[in-house]
Amino acid sequence: MRLPLIVGNWKMNTTVSEAVELVRAMLPELDRIDNVGKVLCPPFVSLATVKDLIEGTSIELGAQNLYFEEKGAYTGEISPLMLADLCEFVIIGHSERRCYFNETGEIISKKVQAALKVGLSTILCVGERLEENEAGKTKEVITGQLRSALVGVDNPSGLSLAYEPVWAIGTGKAATGEQANETIGLIRHYLSQLYDMRVAQGLRILYGGSVTSSNAVEFIKQSEIDGALVGGASLKATEFLGIVKEASEISQTK
Ligand code: PEP
Repeated sequence: MRLPLIVGNWKMNTTVSEAVELVRAMLPELDRIDNVGKVLCPPFVSLATVKDLIEGTSIELGAQNLYFEEKGAYTGEISPLMLADLCEFVIIGHSERRCYFNETGEIISKKVQAALKVGLSTILCVGERLEENEAGKTKEVITGQLRSALVGVDNPSGLSLAYEPVWAIGTGKAATGEQANETIGLIRHYLSQLYDMRVAQGLRILYGGSVTSSNAVEFIKQSEIDGALVGGASLKATEFLGIVKEASEISQTK
């Protein structure tokens, strides 16, 4: 049984005071919703403040990125050790990092290993671009991303995955539940080959891409989908609460 997980990726939004306002608008209701994991990923500069606000609640904290070295002369970077002190989760390999910051499979693999090493629950994002989807290359692209990201990861406990088709991120054009379920089934199958069936069955795989409180059910009810990575809708308290409530209800019947 995989407990669903809903992760709010705030991206480069909210000042510290806006982050406080957003968390306050969700608490204590978010805290009370059970049968679902709830993770907030604010920008680095708000992590400590949000950590204090959610202390003692059922809500967990995540970062949106890290650098793979533990410390040293890497001006402007944030290390896994620094994050392990503050939060439980980290998102790695988001398509915006791959696209705007040239993160290659090799860099992502180093980040995944560094995050797992310090005990951070690591959400590895994979997903194909529109032209790759249209050319029928989804499976090829995703298995390639998984293969390179998981080089050197012998023990993937602590890992979750997020299937995020790039064409669905921030576009309002979500995949269908069936499309996402099928691709996530392929991801799980690939993981069973990379590791084994028991390991693959134990890993949570989320869907991400224009998830809102109106379409969340369509994804979370699917047999292979274990929750959602939510961008835009996680910046609105009522939307995020709505998604988490749907996940909690489905989790009791799945
Ligand atoms: C994301 O940032 O991972 C994401 C899925 O964004 P959105 O929900 O806005 O499409």
